[in-house]
Amino acid sequence: MIMKDYTAVIQAGGKGSRMIELTQDKLPKPLLLLNGKPMIQWQIETLSDFGITEIVIITGHLGDKIKDYFADGSNYGVHISYIEEKEPLGSAGALYYLKEQILSENFILIFGDVMFEIDWNRMIGFHENHQKQVTLLAHPNSHPYDSDLLLLDQKMQVKAILPKNEERSFWYDNCVNAGIYILKSDILQDFEEIQKRDFEKDILCERIKRGEVYAYITSEYVKDAGTPERFRTVCQEQADGIWAKKWLVNKQKCIFLDRDGTINQFRGLIANEDEFELEEFASEAVRKINGSGYLAIVVTNQPVVARGMCQEEDVRRIHRKMQTLLGRQGAFLDDIIFCPHHPDKGYPEENKAYKCTCECRKPAIGMIRQMAVKHNLDLEKSWMIGDSTVDIKTAKNAGVSSVLVMTGQAGQDGKYNEKATVIAENLLKAVEMILSLDKE
Ligand SMILES: [Zn+2]
Repeated sequence: MIMKDYTAVIQAGGKGSRMIELTQDKLPKPLLLLNGKPMIQWQIETLSDFGITEIVIITGHLGDKIKDYFADGSNYGVHISYIEEKEPLGSAGALYYLKEQILSENFILIFGDVMFEIDWNRMIGFHENHQKQVTLLAHPNSHPYDSDLLLLDQKMQVKAILPKNEERSFWYDNCVNAGIYILKSDILQDFEEIQKRDFEKDILCERIKRGEVYAYITSEYVKDAGTPERFRTVCQEQADGIWAKKWLVNKQKCIFLDRDGTINQFRGLIANEDEFELEEFASEAVRKINGSGYLAIVVTNQPVVARGMCQEEDVRRIHRKMQTLLGRQGAFLDDIIFCPHHPDKGYPEENKAYKCTCECRKPAIGMIRQMAVKHNLDLEKSWMIGDSTVDIKTAKNAGVSSVLVMTGQAGQDGKYNEKATVIAENLLKAVEMILSLDKE
């Protein structure tokens, strides 16, 4: 796909005061060298890899140095034009000037602090399918408790932004706005005069109220490098190859995780979030997966829905609790999928709509297949960790390696006589074992 119809706008006009320790105020922040290359050059190169070659840079403080460096962009295979902010216009005021510059029907908006390596074909494909004004890039992160969160419905429409400084007395999905947008260009007609404007407050929130904003969620590498500490982490992760590993153009390795008895304490069927308690080692285990380049995806049978013990929404609420608790300790899941079905009919309180033989209930591999397509997984290099022989059978059916853990049912469910690739004391030991094998 060649993205001739997508101009990319990079907002590089910020003062960069948080980064003065590194720039010494001699360099605009976007020119700060990240492993030998200016931050903004990394951004430009990943855009041009996808044929997005029409680029507008909004410059402010020390902006001439950016112009001197890139000129018209021809040395970098792109065409760059500039909007110069004479006075600070907030994160969005300068978009006024785009009215005359943007000829494409849609444009991409990127904030200068955000470093990323994403498959643009996927995000643009999502935007075109939804045909709405705004698509924003969302992802789970390692600190949802101090991030603004997005509240989505099942169709990925953004219903609200939950600000980080408001108290949260509820469980939430780990879903954070990453600072990358695709917008329809007619949104620019809203900019009637030159004035200071805040993108999130003045534009995004307005459009959310009108139901015009959708979230595209990715497991790829996207991180704000806007403080010296974060900048150093981002440099390290680039050098370690994490950016490239998580890029969805490349095949991904995944560690599938069973839920009950593996991540959380085994209590039989759980229909209420009060019964959900993480195992004490779960956060550390998931955090280790997060730092490894493997994806962490929960795959769980939840026949509680078919049995009429609760609704799918209740299962999702339990999963919000799981994400909130993991998030408090710096861990996140890349995806969660569950099977609400059950094959045995004839119970008085059952929910008939879910009583069926399905493709997804483990040990069937419908859920794994679905995740493999969505996340471009290499199943041969992936793993499943679970406490029951059903998990081990599932792994075998799907062609992934498996670890049986000695927590929860500890393989005593006796459903199948399947041997795991390895056995481990618990989830943490299982993850450590997988990661050590990986290094060999
Ligand atoms: Zn199912």
